[in-house]
Amino acid sequence: MAGRNHLYIPGPTNVPDAVLNAMHVPMEDHRSPIFPNLLKPILQDLKKVFGTETGQTFVFPATGTAGWEIALTNILNPGDKVIIFRFGQFSHLWAEMAKRLGFDVEIHQETWGKGIPLDRLEQRLREDTEHKIKAVLATHNETATGVTSDIGGVRKVLDSVNHPAFLFVDGVSSIASIDFRLDEWGVDAAISGSQKGFMLPAGGAILAFSQKALAAVQTSTYPRCFLDLKDQMTANKDGYTPYTPNLPLLYGLRKALDLLLEEGMDNVYARHYRLAEGTRKAVAAWGLKLCAQPGFESNTVSAIVVPEDKDAKDVISTAFKKYNISLGAGLSEVAGKVFRIGHIGDMNDVSMLGAIAGVEMAMLDCGFNIQPGSGVAAAIEYYRSTAKA
Ligand SMILES: *Cc1c(COP(=O)(O)O)cnc(C)c1O
Repeated sequence: MAGRNHLYIPGPTNVPDAVLNAMHVPMEDHRSPIFPNLLKPILQDLKKVFGTETGQTFVFPATGTAGWEIALTNILNPGDKVIIFRFGQFSHLWAEMAKRLGFDVEIHQETWGKGIPLDRLEQRLREDTEHKIKAVLATHNETATGVTSDIGGVRKVLDSVNHPAFLFVDGVSSIASIDFRLDEWGVDAAISGSQKGFMLPAGGAILAFSQKALAAVQTSTYPRCFLDLKDQMTANKDGYTPYTPNLPLLYGLRKALDLLLEEGMDNVYARHYRLAEGTRKAVAAWGLKLCAQPGFESNTVSAIVVPEDKDAKDVISTAFKKYNISLGAGLSEVAGKVFRIGHIGDMNDVSMLGAIAGVEMAMLDCGFNIQPGSGVAAAIEYYRSTAKA
């Protein structure tokens, strides 16, 4: 099919041409004296994206899922108790991993569409007077439902009850797109992946840890090898890696960081807000609702609930077959009930309008009772009125 496939899933996201070009490199000796010139500044610049001066950043040749495992197995000890609120497929998978790794996982169910309930968290932590809970696992942006939780609020809760638990945050679909402040929020482990806000192919687990977490790594007795942070720290100190790095990904990451920092992280966050807000205006004009309940709306992905007599899968397959656009499916509990529009990464107003127009066409084809042009009209008015010259 002529033209691009319009990729509007929340990961992998579109890779900017400049990043694609930067990754087109011959292989090189990763033990050479010049390799640290690549790795060291990358690790340094990543700190700006994670909002940390005192923490330390890492890149593993792996994915976000490995990031969950790195945090759990390097900082905690076998059998430690962790608490997680589950309200979507990613918080579910993280909880399942912790169980499979032998941790004592306390799962609190929350409605899909809501995020971490700070009042319930506070109550539970307050009850835990013996401090049996060693870590709070928080999903910053639940990609399955398009829900963002208040991580600064989680930190306030921990502090208000003087609870020493570590704060682990899954920021795979938020970091580099939604405001993130490792130091200010006292996050001990922040987990991201290369194929979302970083606008790269999958293959990089991109992480940051607090000094409190890194101190715990020294004493943790959990067995680990490939995902050992100690080995990574030892090698990274001199600008090397404990095993063969994914070189094209690192060159791509160098370029992606240049693009992000040139734009400025605050501008990146503001752009994602605008992309999301235009999408939300369109959704409202169609007379549809987000899966996310008010106050939890994500700036990187919108999960849109279809009317009960419709199947979201039909919208997705029509959009793909007829219009060459890729949308995110509803996962697990919301399969068929929602479709998702990713507005994350290398996107601008007009690329967003492509998504909105394509979705509108596909919904009309599927017999949705919507006014042709209504979503597009609402979005263009919003983008026009808020665009800077
Ligand atoms: C994509 C995603 C993951 C999984 O990352 P992989 O890179 O696919 O392993 C985890 N958590 C969230 C919130 C995600 O969006």
